[in-house]
Amino acid sequence: MNPLNVVETIIAKRDGRTLAPGTITRLVERFTAGEVPDYQVSAFLMAAFLRGLDAEETAELVRAMLHSGTVLDLSDLPGGKVDKHSTGGVGDGTSLVIGPLAAACGVVVPMISGRGLGHTGGTLDKLESIPGFRTDLDLGRFRSQLERLGVAMIGQTAELAPADRRLYALRDVTGTVESIPLIAASIMSKKLAEGLDGLVLDVKFGGGAFMRDVEDARRLAETLVEVGEDNGCRSVALLTSMEAPLGLAAGNWCEVAQAVDCLRGGGPDDFRELTLALTTEMIVMAGVEPDTDRARTRAARALADGSAFERFLQVVEAQGGDPRSLESPWERTGFAPVIEVRSETEGVVTAVDARAVGRICVDLGAGRTRLDDRIDELAGVVLNKKPGDLVAWDEVLARIHASRPERAAEVARSLRDAIAIGDAARAEPLIAGRYAAGRWSA
Ligand code: URA
Repeated sequence: MNPLNVVETIIAKRDGRTLAPGTITRLVERFTAGEVPDYQVSAFLMAAFLRGLDAEETAELVRAMLHSGTVLDLSDLPGGKVDKHSTGGVGDGTSLVIGPLAAACGVVVPMISGRGLGHTGGTLDKLESIPGFRTDLDLGRFRSQLERLGVAMIGQTAELAPADRRLYALRDVTGTVESIPLIAASIMSKKLAEGLDGLVLDVKFGGGAFMRDVEDARRLAETLVEVGEDNGCRSVALLTSMEAPLGLAAGNWCEVAQAVDCLRGGGPDDFRELTLALTTEMIVMAGVEPDTDRARTRAARALADGSAFERFLQVVEAQGGDPRSLESPWERTGFAPVIEVRSETEGVVTAVDARAVGRICVDLGAGRTRLDDRIDELAGVVLNKKPGDLVAWDEVLARIHASRPERAAEVARSLRDAIAIGDAARAEPLIAGRYAAGRWSA
């Protein structure tokens, strides 16, 4: 095999040529070994973003990223191993609930997640806003926690899909996120490394999603499910709306607080609905219940009877976090100062621009614009109104939290503009379709 010429590889992709088999594998191997600098890989990512990768190149990228580290074998653990992954949204902290909830229902959930990407939040950043919480467990501890609690929530390590960890961080700050092959390779490499029996995918469409267009989101869902099935992992995708933020909270600690509300049997309706729909799929896939009706009843019971919350507290404790911080999360000491955004008219909320809310959160410090940015874990936005809600003049529409109040003041106008008020709101379904076994259903 020819040695890799990185510049020629970038040029070939820049010019829209298909790469010879083996090229992507060698590029990923050498990047992971620290032999190709970030600036060349960033250029390659931009070329791949603009020119696309075909099905073979995408499959090769998935395999190269998957085999950049260890692939877990969890076959000795009893029970179906099933995880869930979202393609990224705003206010979508459902993983924080779904991991412990599915485990409380008997599913084994080896969850490996990512950090915030672009304007979207990431499960790892949210978990790390819990004081003391560690997402960098070694594989020995990951496995023993899975045996004991049925769920562990970590990030890519030097051992698991390390190529994704580095590529993901580069994509986050180089404008190369919204690409079907790059998203598919990122998600599926880390998910296939978990040694899963099944995977439930939440593929988002709309203004706050990486795939704004529903048809692009459908193609992404099909690609993800097909890559999963081709690699021996049963996969199903729900196509879900990300026009408005999910729930009411966006920003790391705000979303932990929202997840705690849901784990205690409350929380916003759309957040709870999506949580239950995805967990239901996982329970059926793991073979815990034979059908969706029974699976949903089981999941709803685990939220109502406190067993899911109890499991979450056990996970927090096992991963070094302080469970006491979750007793009254909305009152956390030092919870960042608040600025209220008020309505300047009356009417009905017709839209909340999820992408704008996500960007505002990043501007507040809840996400990164540079590789080395530090996260302000308390920064975020809590909506008081959702599409369809009536609004009176001067009513509070949203609250901005930020450790640096001057930042909150700067974004207040943009947040006001992100919430449209008119005469009537159109009701859009939250779940627009389901893709499994090569076909779409309602
Ligand atoms: N989630 C991921 O893990 N990777 C992406 O590229 C997008 C969403």
